[in-house]
This record gives sequence, C-alpha cells and structure tokens, in this order.
Amino acid sequence: MKYNKLTDEEKRIIIDKQTERPGSGKFNDFGRNGIYICKRCSAALFLSEYKFAAGCGWPSFDDEVDSAVKRVPDSDGIRTEILCNKCGAHLGHLFTGEKFTPKDTRYCVNSVSLDFIPTEKLHRAYFAGGCFWGMQCYFQKIDGVILTRAGYMGGTAQNPTYDQICSGLTGHYETIELIYDPTSVDFRELSKLFFQIHDPTQIDGQGPDIGRQYRSAIFYIDDDQKNTAKDLIELLKGKGYKVATELIKAGRFWNAESYHQNYYSKTGKYPYCHSFVKRF
Ligand SMILES: [Zn+2]
Repeated sequence: MKYNKLTDEEKRIIIDKQTERPGSGKFNDFGRNGIYICKRCSAALFLSEYKFAAGCGWPSFDDEVDSAVKRVPDSDGIRTEILCNKCGAHLGHLFTGEKFTPKDTRYCVNSVSLDFIPTEKLHRAYFAGGCFWGMQCYFQKIDGVILTRAGYMGGTAQNPTYDQICSGLTGHYETIELIYDPTSVDFRELSKLFFQIHDPTQIDGQGPDIGRQYRSAIFYIDDDQKNTAKDLIELLKGKGYKVATELIKAGRFWNAESYHQNYYSKTGKYPYCHSFVKRF
C-alpha cells in the first residue's frame, strides 16, 4: 500500500491516536463541497454532504463512504474508535444517540487525519459493462480513482430498486460511477480499461449475465468524453472487434442498494463475470 509521508504532528494523531485540540483543526469550520480523504492512504472517507456543524470543535459527519470506516472498541473501554478501513489510520470516535441529524450518528474526526479534494478538481465517468460487482472490483484499484459507486443509469423509473431494474422494464443499465482525479488518470485511460475488462462485442448481456441491464454502454458527460469513446471504438473496430458498446448522454445516476457496493472487497470473493483481456 502506498502511504503519504506524515509530519510529526500527523503521526501523533494518526498513529499514536492522540486528539487534536478542539477548534484548532482546519476542517472544523469548513464548508466547501468535495470529498474528504485519508491523510495517510488517500482513501475516500466522507462526502461534504455528510458534514454538519456539531459545535464540538472537530469536523463531524453523519455518514461515511461505503465501508470506508472501521469501528473498534476504544482503549478507554467506553467509546468507539474509528479507523480508516484501508490503512488503519486513527480518525477519531463515533457517537450515536445525540440526535444531531436524522441518521443520529456522529463521526467525530480529527482534521489532521483528513485531506480534502474540492468538487471542481474531481471528474466523473459512468460505465456500464455487465454486473457492476465485477466492474467496481477492477476500477476501484486504479490510482487516481477516488471513489466508485455501483448504481443504475439509462432508465425511466425514479429511484429504481435492484428488483425493478432486473425486470428489464425500467431500461436501466448496471452502471459504475467513477470519481477521479484527472491529474492522475484521464478518461481515455479509464475507457481503455473499460473496453478490456468486459467484452464490448457482446450484445445481449455480459458473460453469463444475460439481460438488458447488463449491456455495454458509456454514459458520456460532455463532448470530450463522447469523442474519446468514439475514437477508442473506432480503434477497436479497426482491429476487427464488432463493438456493441452504446454511447449515451449521461442521465441521473441512482446509487444501488448498499449490499451491492464493494461486493467483492467485502466478501473476499473474485469476479466470475469479468477478466482483463488486452485489446489495445
Ligand atoms: Zn487510510
């Protein structure tokens, strides 16, 4: 695992589990839109929409990025300590029953344990290439991909459930949302990976998964993404691949149910539906 270098003060909090002075942290009184990441390993931990003013002197959130935070009993025998699930960095403590927000949960986090990437520095991409469990498993390992989410796009119903999209009647595709840092990885690289971790020539589904929701598509956000995708499809056609991937203007992305998020990393299983095949 790649770790960022820590200052002595950061080590004091993140490794030695000390607590920063209340009101002293740079994210305590801070309201910008973006993603809070782990200071040590850069894993996405909290979205700005989860942040609320608790008045306690530390940044407070009422939710976490799926599976980003690990809970352990604190050495004081009373509180619940929270750690970065990826690298074990000490973040702070978790409190419930305070009724600050409807979620009734407060992740009380040291600013020192966090870094922040503002929304304007992040880009998004949406790929549909069969079962979203397998797609997410590959994309979440890519440097520069800050966050991946499994969900649904391209259909008609609002806030669709998995059962609804499986009926094929809503028209949704199982889709992966990627939030990435364009200074580390670009849309072309991500699209090339997309075309190599699923079979873009299959028209009725993907691998053993047959059905409308498993079809191959790139939901582009702008003309740059559309033209990049077109260019790669032409390259593949030039190599003899009869590409079935559709290019569709991105619509609303609906998050899938939490049991679909990070399925393979949670279960320790390996995708049956996707594998890497070099095509470029
Ligand atoms: Zn971490």
